Amino acid sequence: MDIFQTIGEISGKAYNSYLQAAKENGAKIAGYFCQVPVEVIHAAGLIPYRMRAVGSSGTAKGDIYYSPLNCTFTRHCFDRAFRGGFDFLDAVIFMNGCDHTRRMYDNWRHARKTQNISPDFLYMFVTPHIVDEYSMDRYIEEIRKFSKCLSERFGTNITNDLLLNSIKLFNKQRRLITKIYEKRKSMEATVKGSDILSMMFAVTAMPVDTANDLLEKIDASISDNPVPEKADIRVLITGGCIEEIDIIRIIEGCHAVVVADNLCVGARYFDMEVDESGDPAESLAKRYLNKLSCPRILNAFDARMKHIYDTIRDYRIDAVITQKLKFCDLWGVENLMLKKESQRTGFPLLALERELYGEGIGQLKTRIQAFIEEVHNRKNCPGFFS
Ligand code: SF4
Repeated sequence: MDIFQTIGEISGKAYNSYLQAAKENGAKIAGYFCQVPVEVIHAAGLIPYRMRAVGSSGTAKGDIYYSPLNCTFTRHCFDRAFRGGFDFLDAVIFMNGCDHTRRMYDNWRHARKTQNISPDFLYMFVTPHIVDEYSMDRYIEEIRKFSKCLSERFGTNITNDLLLNSIKLFNKQRRLITKIYEKRKSMEATVKGSDILSMMFAVTAMPVDTANDLLEKIDASISDNPVPEKADIRVLITGGCIEEIDIIRIIEGCHAVVVADNLCVGARYFDMEVDESGDPAESLAKRYLNKLSCPRILNAFDARMKHIYDTIRDYRIDAVITQKLKFCDLWGVENLMLKKESQRTGFPLLALERELYGEGIGQLKTRIQAFIEEVHNRKNCPGFFS
């Protein structure tokens, strides 16, 4: 079987065969949201599992706790929790990414008591919303508190050596993913963006050493088998929560290829290594607070824009597509600022709003097709942004 077919199968399920095998061998799994330091989870002896709503059949049960004005990511995720979709987890680590996800911690705890939904270990990891000296101290303190709590609950003493070992494994993963992403700078399409998103979903849902082996195989397979089709328009995709690989396929069905991203389970996941020489908790805090952020970090818009402009230059991007879920204020404001930047400097931008696993795919397709066509026409005119 082609390696990307294998990855497609892994990423298309919440509970994949790698997790199943690890669990049968006694491993414990911790689901986590957003910017939780995965190294601490791993050092405690658990497999970090990036929470997704994949496999969701709706939001009816999630809507018991959430209002229709909450984003569909939280409603689908919580719905799955109610229906036993996360029964394979031994812990869930929440984070105050936004108020919608923060609230999931309260809802889950309530439903745990009243409806007995699993797992029984639920933890809120609190992360600052700005980056400065004080927030750095706050983050370090939070890492120490988190380590202590996991150590007590799962019976592992998280030493500096254990943390350093985990840091090295995840740094290796970051280097492997970076190497694969770098290959996408080539003007010949080396790999489809849809396969890359699928890869990212897979590697964030399996033991890190297994994921690293898989990434090495993917790297080799990309060198051996460049993507045959030619694409005129090179796209950078950015924005908030996205789980539907079909959206990338739609873009790539319009004579375009997605060659770069700024997504949670994309560039924001692997950007920046953790320093392996200093105190592990301090090094983790530095990395997680200074890496490529999402709009929840309030004083880092300029850094995010720099990443967009650097990516446009390095990956020779023709068009930027940003997407957000309805009722996501964080990305609502960010996209507005992105539009202003696009007007100021002239890069072509399409801003999409959608529901997670929503029904408006046909409408999205029409908008994407029209946008790519327009970019194609603009590209052939003198004065095109480059
Ligand atoms: S999509 Fe927006 S509102 Fe929903 S969880 Fe993510 S950041 Fe929060």
